[in-house]
Order: sequence, then structure tokens, then C-alpha cells
Amino acid sequence: MKFQDRLTVLNGIASLQAKRFEELGIYSLADLINYYPRRYDDYSEVSLVKDLKPGPVSLKVKITNLTGRYAKTRGLHISEAIASDASGSVKIVWFNQPFRLKSFKSNKTYYLSGSYELKNNHFSIINPATELVSDLPVNTARILAIYPESKNIDSRLIRKLMLQLSPLIDQIPESLPGFIIKDQKLISLSQALKLLHMPDSRSNLEAAKRRLGFEEVFNFALASLISKQINQAEKSISIKFSEDLAKAFIASLPFKLTDSQRLAVWRIYLDMQSPTPMNRLVEGDVGSGKTVVAVMAALMVLKANKQVALMAPTELLARQHAETIYNLLKPVGLESKLSLLVGSLKSSQKQIAYKFIKNNQASFIVGTHALIQEKVDIKNLALVIVDEQHRFGVKQRTALIAKAGHMPHVLSLSATPIPRSLALTLYGELDITRLKQKPSNRLPVDTTIIYPSQVAELYTHVDQEIKAGRQVFIVCPAIHEAEHGLKSATQVYEELSRGVFRHRRLGLLHGQLKTDIKQQVMKDFVYKKLDILVATTVIEVGVDVPNASLMIVFSPERFGLAQLHQLRGRIGRGDYSGHFYMIVESDKSSLKRLRALERSSDGFDLAELDLKLRGPGAIYGTYQHGALDLRIANLNDRQLISEAVNGAHMFIDQKEALDNYPVLKQKINQLRAVTNLN
Ligand code: ADP
Ligand code: MG
Repeated sequence: MKFQDRLTVLNGIASLQAKRFEELGIYSLADLINYYPRRYDDYSEVSLVKDLKPGPVSLKVKITNLTGRYAKTRGLHISEAIASDASGSVKIVWFNQPFRLKSFKSNKTYYLSGSYELKNNHFSIINPATELVSDLPVNTARILAIYPESKNIDSRLIRKLMLQLSPLIDQIPESLPGFIIKDQKLISLSQALKLLHMPDSRSNLEAAKRRLGFEEVFNFALASLISKQINQAEKSISIKFSEDLAKAFIASLPFKLTDSQRLAVWRIYLDMQSPTPMNRLVEGDVGSGKTVVAVMAALMVLKANKQVALMAPTELLARQHAETIYNLLKPVGLESKLSLLVGSLKSSQKQIAYKFIKNNQASFIVGTHALIQEKVDIKNLALVIVDEQHRFGVKQRTALIAKAGHMPHVLSLSATPIPRSLALTLYGELDITRLKQKPSNRLPVDTTIIYPSQVAELYTHVDQEIKAGRQVFIVCPAIHEAEHGLKSATQVYEELSRGVFRHRRLGLLHGQLKTDIKQQVMKDFVYKKLDILVATTVIEVGVDVPNASLMIVFSPERFGLAQLHQLRGRIGRGDYSGHFYMIVESDKSSLKRLRALERSSDGFDLAELDLKLRGPGAIYGTYQHGALDLRIANLNDRQLISEAVNGAHMFIDQKEALDNYPVLKQKINQLRAVTNLN
């Protein structure tokens, strides 16, 4: 038996059966070993017949009085028997398993595990698994692994195969460094896998899960720390701090910086003074004032006569940034250094921009991500600012180095709060600064849960807001009608523009529209040519519409709390207080979760809560691309996370060479491509 062997080398697996496994993505023996149980049923306690209680039970019995018949319902075969031990007897029933009739000898003792339940006014054990007591039990009288099953492959079969694989599992080489295993008192990989598939006790199963979960987190953490090390071995341009310029700029602002902003700027200045590349993420709720922080970082680069590139996820956002930045730079006389480079520029305009960038006349370049791919000659690039969620992975970094000839400092800005455990696991290479405070002049957004019966009343309020000159967002969880009761953006748009809001100007925005149409709609909304924008969550990312004061979300149950919080951040950005309404579906099960939004206006708290309630997928949704493939580890298990992250630091601190750990090295290299690419 070898790891790469096909399943047909196993007893009881013919090629047809092997095909069925292939449908589950299981081609080789190694794949099968990597097919983890979904959960466990504990049948380990063997009881006496007289002590039976409803639910999963195991018995040690003789099986007699076997009879078979067909039920009146067409085709259903019923086998019945009596199971007895010294304390008493109980009826057992199997449906559609006629082979059972010939499976038992009256003088032998069997283990039997099944569900003891009431059927047709009688208690019996339904569809039990049975095994001779003399054998090693695989499907009875123990903790049973329950696998994700398909129509033709059930857990009983998989368990039997695992037993056959046992000698192969014993040969699985250790993947964690020995000193980590020792220090953390972990069991070996082969032991852990064996126990995961064939647990012999609760505590050993826990030990197996701890070992495997530890390794998952350790690997991610180590991959990101190694990325950090490699990044720090690069050289960036060190940027001097000019106190005069900082003071002049701050004095020119129409507001006072928050302490959070000051601290973030200070950290960035320290980072940039060093020739070690900065890789810092500034996280802050929508409206926490990240743009000013970024511009203050850029100031010092401009002063040093080097270049800054700011990249935004959409052209509209890039244009809005350029406008904002122009106004911020003007009072300190640096506005002429600004250049906008976006796809829709005329070719002649682009040529001019290229020229100015090349000769460093333009040193603050604002554009979309295409910026670093385009044929832009930007040799003096000292700082890259990435707005809203997009971060740099290994590939983009290589591209940047190739373009600039060195590694620039990188400053990322994000409104998506990263819970601490996730930051430690996945983003260990980043230095993270949180903008905890909001500008003090922010008006609160009141948050209200609305029932479908109250919608008419809500629309009256909406109309008043529009009459007062405000604008309104309506957010739906789907583009087209998907399920019954789930409102889609197209449907709501059509209903409202023909119905209650036929006298208002409505726009529709969703991901399936062409890019230029999307941009046009968004632009129309920004420039107040629309009163109501009906949209999917595409509006989530970045655009500022200070005049929008009201947002309605249909079926908020479908969203994570952090995501709802971000949507909420789109309103109440101007001089008007915001109103955020969530129209819940009729079912009330998730109301409790949504109430958290009424209580809290802190994105970090909400993200932590999301993680607890729904796991990382809720926070990162689709954009995370399943990067966080944690099959065993639970991100809410703080102790596990901190032990595994400490282990990764230990590996780095002891200056261990990855080359000495070939299995680990391979895993880490795969993960490095994942951890920093979004
Ligand atoms: P975000 O963090 O969402 O990118 P912005 O940088 O767009 O937020 O800032 C939102 C608004 O708040 C802008 O109009 C900006 O000028 C303003 N702002 C930023 N910092 C402060 C502050 N300290 N006090 C008052 N207003 C501020
Ligand atoms: Mg922003």
C-alpha cells in the first residue's frame, strides 16, 4: 500500500465504487486519509437492555428470531429480530437490508449500535450496525466518525476502509518540527490522524484535534512570519520626517485630528524613516478618517522628492480620492504634484501623465490597481497606499520591486475589521494600527429593525427625507429573484419605480451590470441626479455620498454583522444624521443577532461577535476565497491560537532553517501564496 495508490487496492473497492469516491474528490489513499469526519456519534458506552434509554445506544447481545417481510408500502423490506442479554430483550428492525436475515448465528455474541426509538407505539432499535464481539469493533460500541456522505458512500464503509489504511497511516511522516511537538506536548501526526478517524476515547479525540488544529494555525502563522522576514530583508527608501510640513498641514485642516489618527501617523513616520519596508495596515470604520492619515504619510515622501502611488478599487473612488487629496494638498502648496491615472483617460492625457510620472513632476499618483500593471515608469516610488481591502501578495510585491527597482513602503487602508485571532493567524506579517476613535463631529446613525408590516410607514419617512433634499440607499441581498420571500434588487427597483416612488428618480446598481454603466449610475447618485439607489452590496466599497442620510436593508439576516455595519457607514457622513433600517424577513430567529447592531456602533466588536456566531466566512464573505482553510482549528479557541502563534515565533526566534523541514517547507510555500493575497 502506498499513499498515491488508487482506492481499488483496498479490499471491497471495485472500480465502480472507486468512481463514486472520485466524485467526492478522493482519488488516492492519501486523499482518503485526508477526508476528515464531519462529526462524531458516541456509541462507546455499552448498556444493558434493561437500562435502555431513547437515543443512540450500544448493546452486547445474542440475536435471534429473525423474520423478514415486505411492508404494504411498495417495495419496503422489513427485517426484524430480538436482541437479548442477561438483563432482557429488545426488538430490532432494519429497513431494506434483507441480507441481515442471514447474517447472525444464534450462539454468537454481537455488538450492536443504533438508535433506540418509538415507532408504531413500540420501542425498538432502528437500523443498528452489528459486529461480532471477537472482532475489533469498527462500526459499533465506540465513538464513531461520521463523514460527509454521498448517496452511495456511507460512513460505515469509510470506517472499514480506514481500518485497512491503519498500517499506512502509521507511516505518515511527522510534519511539525520535533522541538515544537515536545514543547507543546503534541501527539504525532500519524497518531492524530488515526485517532481522528478511529477515536478510542473522548480525550484522545481531543488530543488529535488539538494536534491537527495546532498545525493548521502554526502553518498559517509561520507562513506569514516568513513572508514578513523576507519582506524585511528588502531595502526601501528611508523617508525623513519634516516637523514643519506636518505642522503646517495639520494647521491647514478644517478639523482637529483624533488621537487615533495622530498615533497612526506617528507610527507610519517611524516606519518610513527606516530603510526596512513598511507593511502597515490601518484599519478603521468607515468615516474614521483614513484618507487624511494616508495623505500625511504621502506628504513626507513628496517633501523628499520621491513618489507615492495611491490605488483604489474603482475608478470612481480613485477620482473621488484625487479630488479630496487635491484639496488637502493645496494649502501646503503641493497640489501640483498630484496626477490622476485611470483607464478612462484619453490616450493623449495618459501620455502626458506617463511623461510627468517618469520625470517625477507628478509624484503623487492616484489610480486603480491597474496602475502597477500599466507601463508606468515610476522609479522613485517610495510609498504605495492601497485603499479598501486589497492587499499585496507575493506576486504583486515582486511586480512592484520589478517596477520600482526596490521594495516601496506599503500602507494599506481597510474598513473591514480583522478580529485579533485572525490577524495573528493569517496576517502576522502585517503591522496593524486601528483607528479606534471616530471624529468627534460625527452624527450618530440610528438603527431600527422593521417588520414587513411597517414598510408602508417607512416609505412615508423615506419620501420626507427625499423632499428635504436627502438621498437614500436601498440594499438587497440578491440581484434577481432567487428564493421566495427574498427581495432582489431588480424586483425592488421595479416595484418602487412603478409604485410608491414613481415620482422620484431611482437608480439600480449591481455586480452584473457593465463597468461603465455601474460607474455612470454611481456617478449620477454622487452628483444628486438620483434620489434612491437600489443596490446589492457592491456599494459597500468606499464611495462617499455625504448627502445620503437613509439606508434600508432588505433581509439583513443574510449578512454578517460587520458587513451590515460597513453598509451603515455609508450614511450619516455629512451634516445630516443618518437612519439605518433593516427590514427583517418574517422569521425571527436571527433577530437577536441583529439587535447587536442597534446596541453597538463599533465595527471591531461586531466583527468579533460575527466570528463567534458564524465563523470567519461571515466576515470575509466571498472575497477571502476560502483562503482560511481551517478544517479543525476553531478561531474562537484563543488558547490554541496563542499557543500555535507562539510556536511559529519560536521557530523564527530560534533561527530554524525551513530547509531542514522539507514537509513543512512545502506546506509553508503553498500558504505563503495564500496568506497575503487578497
Ligand atoms: P474613511 O476612513 O472611511 O476613509 P475618510 O478619510 O473618507 O474616512 O473621512 C471621512 C470624512 O471625515 C472626511 O470628510 C474627512 O475630511 C473627515 N475627517 C477626517 N478626520 C477628521 C477629524 N479628525 N475630524 C473631523 N472630520 C474628519
Ligand atoms: Mg476611505
